[in-house]
Amino acid sequence: MASPDHAAPPVPKGRLQVINEAKEFSSEIASYMRNIWHVSDKGFSYNVVAVFGSQSTGKSTLLNRVFGTQFSTMDEQIRQQTTKGIWMSRAEGERDLLVLDVEGTDGREKGEDKDFERKSALFSLAIAEVLIINMWENMVGLYSGANLGLLRTVFEVNLQLFQAPGSPKTNLLFVLRDFTGVTPLENLAATLRKDLENIWEGLSKPAGKESATMDDFFELQFFGIPHKVFAAEPFNQGCAQLRTWFMDPEHASYVFRPQFHKHIPADGFPAYAEAIWDKVLTNKDLDLPSQQELLAQFRCDEIAREALAGFTATVGPLHAPLESGQLVATLGETMQTALHTALTAFDKDASRYHKPVYTRRRADFRDQMVDQLHSLFTQYVRNLHQRTVQAFAAALLHAAKPPTVAHLFADALTKARAEAVDGWDQAVAAAMVDDVAWTTTEFRAQLETELNSITATRRRKVIDHLVSQLVKTQSEAMDQQVLAALDAATSQSWSLIAKAFHHASGVLSQQFTSQSACLALTADEQHAAAQQLMATLWVHLVTQLKWETSEVPVGDRLRSRFREAFCYEGASRTPRIWKPSDDMETVFAQAKQRAEAWIVRFRAMDFAAGALPATLQDAVATSEIGADLDPDMGVGHLVLIDSAREKRYLELLSLEADAMYLNAKRSMLPTTRE
Ligand code: GDP
Ligand code: MG
Repeated sequence: MASPDHAAPPVPKGRLQVINEAKEFSSEIASYMRNIWHVSDKGFSYNVVAVFGSQSTGKSTLLNRVFGTQFSTMDEQIRQQTTKGIWMSRAEGERDLLVLDVEGTDGREKGEDKDFERKSALFSLAIAEVLIINMWENMVGLYSGANLGLLRTVFEVNLQLFQAPGSPKTNLLFVLRDFTGVTPLENLAATLRKDLENIWEGLSKPAGKESATMDDFFELQFFGIPHKVFAAEPFNQGCAQLRTWFMDPEHASYVFRPQFHKHIPADGFPAYAEAIWDKVLTNKDLDLPSQQELLAQFRCDEIAREALAGFTATVGPLHAPLESGQLVATLGETMQTALHTALTAFDKDASRYHKPVYTRRRADFRDQMVDQLHSLFTQYVRNLHQRTVQAFAAALLHAAKPPTVAHLFADALTKARAEAVDGWDQAVAAAMVDDVAWTTTEFRAQLETELNSITATRRRKVIDHLVSQLVKTQSEAMDQQVLAALDAATSQSWSLIAKAFHHASGVLSQQFTSQSACLALTADEQHAAAQQLMATLWVHLVTQLKWETSEVPVGDRLRSRFREAFCYEGASRTPRIWKPSDDMETVFAQAKQRAEAWIVRFRAMDFAAGALPATLQDAVATSEIGADLDPDMGVGHLVLIDSAREKRYLELLSLEADAMYLNAKRSMLPTTRE
């Protein structure tokens, strides 16, 4: 605010030069509104009045008397009579009334003044509800009076501004100064009205407004006030009376009727006034409805930003713990409150603005916050997923630890699953925010998938265990039958072994089915388990056969088979006493052959086609356990004793047989003495 005279007294605190001589808009208006006039938070509950009139007609003096303001008057200025600009202040008293003192219109047709007059008129009309037109009584009816130029400007400008249907009217309050009462006020009013009608008629009106009347845009009020010096007391009374027109809504002449209100929320007033002045200054078309819309956008953005700051302050600190994997127990509640608080704060101020803008911005603002909340929620659900899965896996791991019993595992599984799913559901519900459409089906499906996969892995362990337990404990009958077949070593031996295997696999499969019923295996799992059971049983059999065909058991077996035939006799199995007449060589050869025949029968598996279960081949090939077997050997044709071992076994047999032969020779009872 440039002051032309540095010796001028300091500007009283309550008034602000909104627009200075250089036509600059003050940057301080918002802070005055908030901190000095305390009007910012008054919403629509405030009013604006502006005064217009020729210079030095006592405008500022009047305002100061009526409103208790401290606008500078000529008496105070002395050397600053040409000061121009628009000053603003708040009226003293309860009511939030902003007063604009428009200076510097002397009404003469000088270019520069004319321009400022027009700009001030535009500005004042755009924001003030009441325009005080201040004039001397004795100028009424003087057609060439300077005031008429001013009024013509006001009319023109008004026509430019308030074209939109439903635009507010403006109240023109004529204050006639140095009012004597010689001519009644009504007569003066009638004269003025006629003059105004004439001016109105003479205006070129914009298209579509050709037939508009003055009353479509204005209401007129009149007030006469006596000379300040010559009728000091009546002047004071007049000022007091006029004040009631502004301060008392019950007064018949109350000036601020609703139809005059410009509908600018107080908190948006500075931005609006500035935008208007900016347009006025650049001579742009001033279209008030779009200005209001712009203001609404601007203010709604500002209000949203402020509300968002509060929201972020509440919600921001939730990020870190969530990111580090924690479950924030109060998440849902906190998010709910933050959202609600922010929207309430937004609504409080923003709802006063242009409805469509407000509604749109509110939706955006809400979306913006809900997006933020959703990312928190997503992180939360991720953490919840981790925890749920971990707890579930731990419960199952424990339950599946051998020695486990299938039905105990099944019980534990049911319990753990319910705990996981119910716990998840509850935790998700608790973190939801009302009225948001967050879908969780995907997350829920992920959880199910993971639980299923953990269940499958654990169940697999239980099945493994069950299978190996069954084979270990329930295959004794088969073992016995196999041993018997090996002992007998007849042509039926291999088919007996196959039968034993067949039977055992049937029995085990039944036992498995009944013991695993509680696990509710899927068809695939059942199939895999059946394969595994058969393969395991097969490996068990092969292991037994391999042992029985290994060196020590084979040595025993061959020795005893030889001995039985060589040392014992007939069905009675009585020890043979060799006599010289006995054909020792033949018996020896037969006994040895009997032993050798065992090797021939069991040197390789010799199952008849179809003797073994049809599914065995496949089971061994697909089951893990099949890897224990020599992959080159087809099921049913495994070589048990290879030729090198066979040769060694036979050599050992020969050695022992020869020894027994010599022994027998030596022990032979002599029948003749040589
Ligand atoms: P403004 O330029 O319209 O704001 O006028 P001021 O309020 O500064 O007053 C201009 C001069 O008119 C000052 O010398 C005042 O003392 C004087 N004045 C104020 N009120 C009245 C009044 O009611 N009648 C007359 N005749 N002079 C007044
Ligand atoms: Mg003044």
